[in-house]
Amino acid sequence: MKFIVGVDDHDSTKAGCTTHFSSILLEKLFLKNCKISELPKLVRLNPNIPWKTRGNASISFIVDCNISLCELEQLVSDTSEKYVKKISMGYNLNRKPGYAILEYDKYNLIKDKLESFYERAVSDVIPLDLAKKFAKNNKILIGGSRGLIGSIAALGFDEDYTFELLTYRKIENWNKDRDVDNKSIMEADSIFFPRVVANYDYFKNKPLILSHGRDPVFYGLRGTDPEILIKEMNTINAKEELDFFMIFKTNQMTDSHLKYLGTRYYQTTSMKIKINSIRIMKGGHVLIEGSDNEMLVIVYRESRELNSLAKELKRGDLIHVSGAIKPSFNNSKILEAERIEVLYLNDQINEIPLCPICKRRMESAGKDKGYRCKRCRTFANSKTTRSISRNITLGLYQSPLYRHLTKPIYLNLSKPEINEEELINNILSKMIKRQDRYVSTMVSS
Ligand SMILES: [Zn+2]
Repeated sequence: MKFIVGVDDHDSTKAGCTTHFSSILLEKLFLKNCKISELPKLVRLNPNIPWKTRGNASISFIVDCNISLCELEQLVSDTSEKYVKKISMGYNLNRKPGYAILEYDKYNLIKDKLESFYERAVSDVIPLDLAKKFAKNNKILIGGSRGLIGSIAALGFDEDYTFELLTYRKIENWNKDRDVDNKSIMEADSIFFPRVVANYDYFKNKPLILSHGRDPVFYGLRGTDPEILIKEMNTINAKEELDFFMIFKTNQMTDSHLKYLGTRYYQTTSMKIKINSIRIMKGGHVLIEGSDNEMLVIVYRESRELNSLAKELKRGDLIHVSGAIKPSFNNSKILEAERIEVLYLNDQINEIPLCPICKRRMESAGKDKGYRCKRCRTFANSKTTRSISRNITLGLYQSPLYRHLTKPIYLNLSKPEINEEELINNILSKMIKRQDRYVSTMVSS
């Protein structure tokens, strides 16, 4: 019987990772002779939610097993519990893992509803009660707690995608620093860019692919073609023996969050702004005030190119800003810019005229009374207009340090011709053949 399974919140600040858990779960099902014919999906949800762990990711996959729904649930819930107790220690760290399971025939009947649920999870905040009610009404089998929201959402993801290849460390290395040959990353980047992205920060001279902390991920490679990602993995020289790898289909880098906009806190929004003023704050952050909008836009120093652009903007410029709505210090709404399209640049400035005789700047003759030069007794009615050159051009600007869902400007979301079934079966065959399957055994016994 064919099923679709979603899992979420199996990581913690100490250890574990939902992607790692799902790979081990897939391995377990593979060993039970379940047929797996598609890559698992890694789904990033609303990037603006403040209480997410690292990346707010959940996973879904399809399996065809010779067991009942009830048996499958038993297996998922059992593995989940063992993983959280023995690996991620999540229960002590306020993690609330969850899962969602659905028979594939039923999934096809409620696909539209699930897609709407996904859209909402990627663009808004879904309360736990609502998710439970949704599951009950649609006969989705759920378990666990808060993680079931992401689990249901992951079932509904079916739109543009890219790929991420994740490599995992052996358990004895989890507490050690990650050591990798940086040159090999730069080499891979130069060969495979732009089909792979965000590998190396040439500005700070450090890799972007490495995971941090004590989670089992060594590095993650992102791109548009899984075959290329495997070649990239084989080019990169990690200085420890890795446990296994998995490839996920993902909504990362697809601008998914920009498709469903809203105006409430923690939603993503997009608006045209005619600039009234630009204020550069002490730390280098830039505040943009529009002529008609009440919402201030903030462009953080950390957004580099975007911040540099913002500093060059002037009154009268027209821009299109996309970003997250957050509460500011006085609880009013502030828009954190992640992308700015410059639509019009005001290259005219009005200035107080020069005296035609002495060429010095005139002075005001009083409110609405024009300008004068006392010395030469000259007079002008109004300010003069002068063209200035601008250091920026029209076009799209965004931070080079991508948020998970943000599509790099140059990325082409073409879909490669791949045999997913062959790919996932190769990966899982490799997984079950490895000598040391310590972690897998830990959650099985
Ligand atoms: Zn003069």
